[in-house]
Amino acid sequence: MAVFCSDAGHGGRDSGAAWNNVLEKDLNLIFTLQLNSLLKKRGHRILTTRKSDDNVPDLLTRCELINQHHAANSPKFDAIISIHCNVAAYKNETGRYVAKESVRGFYAIYSRESIKGRDLANSIANQVTKEGIVTRHGGKLSTVELGRSLAWIHKTLPPAVLLELGYMTNPEELRLLHDKDYQKRMVRAIVDGIDNYILG
Ligand SMILES: [Zn+2]
Repeated sequence: MAVFCSDAGHGGRDSGAAWNNVLEKDLNLIFTLQLNSLLKKRGHRILTTRKSDDNVPDLLTRCELINQHHAANSPKFDAIISIHCNVAAYKNETGRYVAKESVRGFYAIYSRESIKGRDLANSIANQVTKEGIVTRHGGKLSTVELGRSLAWIHKTLPPAVLLELGYMTNPEELRLLHDKDYQKRMVRAIVDGIDNYILG
């Protein structure tokens, strides 16, 4: 049994990315709720940052709350998993956003300074690849390669990964992100990856 903190990225006033009337926060929540229930079924304990379309405290406050729990052992987290969906678009001469439709794929972001975070990202990327899900960057990317630091990964004490499940700007991937079977396969692959990391 392990203890995880899951985070459905964004929420409430913060929609995250948006494309074709789909809001990232809604997709993130769908996947995170399924992730929570499968992790629980496998005997793990989950604390989660939101269970509905709530307004949540800002990112740094959330990180601080997680760190307080972790430092006080109430509970100590084995890992944090933050769930997101991506967009790839550019602004054309008229100021309109145009999708880079060919860009697609899952990847897990981790901090290069965290060996555990890297191992967890590796383990999840391996399972997602095995499941036949399209990946980008070989399924994982460090924050150094990403070119920016992320609060979830750099401001939290427990090992953390941020999972970019897919691109809303790729029509096929946007369809898949709404597909029940694909959601199940994705969540099962992520949980298998987490279990392999824990059993190490
Ligand atoms: Zn996001």
